[in-house]
Amino acid sequence: RKSVKKGFDFTLMVAGESGLGKSTLVNSLFLTDLYKDRKLLNAEERITQTVEITKHTVDIEEKGVKLKLTIVDTPGFGDAVNNTECWKSVADYIDQQFEQYFRDESGLNRKNIQDNRVHCCLYFISPFGHGLRPLDVEFMKALHEKVNIVPVLAKADTLTPSEVKKKKIKIREEIEQYGIKIYQFPDCDSDEDEEFKQQDLELKESIPFAVIGSNTVVEAKGKRVRGRLYPWGIVEVENSAHCDFVKLRNMLVRTHMQDLKDVTRETHYENYRAQCIQSMTRMVVKERNRNKLTRESGTDFPIPVVPGVTDSETEKLIREKDEEVQHELESHQHQHGHSHKCEHSSEQYVCSNTQAGSETHSERTMEDEAL
Ligand code: GDP
Repeated sequence: RKSVKKGFDFTLMVAGESGLGKSTLVNSLFLTDLYKDRKLLNAEERITQTVEITKHTVDIEEKGVKLKLTIVDTPGFGDAVNNTECWKSVADYIDQQFEQYFRDESGLNRKNIQDNRVHCCLYFISPFGHGLRPLDVEFMKALHEKVNIVPVLAKADTLTPSEVKKKKIKIREEIEQYGIKIYQFPDCDSDEDEEFKQQDLELKESIPFAVIGSNTVVEAKGKRVRGRLYPWGIVEVENSAHCDFVKLRNMLVRTHMQDLKDVTRETHYENYRAQCIQSMTRMVVKERNRNKLTRESGTDFPIPVVPGVTDSETEKLIREKDEEVQHELESHQHQHGHSHKCEHSSEQYVCSNTQAGSETHSERTMEDEAL
């Protein structure tokens, strides 16, 4: 209820070769026009262009539930003649968001951190190739430990149903073969009803989601639908017999949004954080060792090591305290031997002695700590 009231935020990245229908799909998914002022480059311009990262934010409200959606696009990916390491700027962008979060989390105002971490990356695979291309393998392997990758088979309307089926199997096999760790859907509870289990199974078997996008509304069987009009018929984006668009949308905005965010926080961000802390610790140790080395190697005179000084001083203080206590003890014993109220005062003494003892102890501890 708290989240519904506050609203959700979600950051989705789309990646893949240009022209595969990324912008069209994003507009279809969230019924917006996010790319109004997009400037398309010609072939010559694209030769020199490096991979850019663009960010669009849109507020969506559905039945009173607010969603602040951020779309991160990667124009220019795979467009150059030489695409070696073109995934690097995407990986750097993801790391920068983690770094920013890490800094904010370590800062003073931890309550209102703006979370820009990428929760999911839809990776578009061309329908025209035979399975994955080398660039697809390289991209996914470089990013699979930083972000939840959900592969999609683009422009599925260009394939027959049996081609879609074969391509999906081939892509799944290749993902396995190359050791690519795409986003794993969590297993559903064994006590869930059969219908839910069936839906869950279908969702897992849909990978990579075969998608179709469209920016136009057409009329099909008397109804106005988002679709693509061809001379031989209409392809409906939201018809599950035509593609997996609805499955993908439900997964993203309904059933798995929270899990995608949880995995980002608990796995990908934690990995980044652990690496950061590890390299910071290594740097500190290196620095410390370097200081030691210069001290030892830079002079012939034996320089006292700091802990040694502390130890001997502590011992001296302890010895002085012990002597003090011993002295007090002796003077009390002396009084005890001549007093009539010896029983009572002896008890009192024992008591106060214990107290004195514990005081001494706590003083010592404090002194030790101070030292
Ligand atoms: P992007 O460069 O990846 O963002 O691709 P665009 O969304 O700009 O789409 C490039 C071209 O593909 C446009 O002419 C779209 O109309 C077309 N397109 C987009 N989605 C689909 C689809 O699902 N099927 C088909 N056949 N064409 C599509």
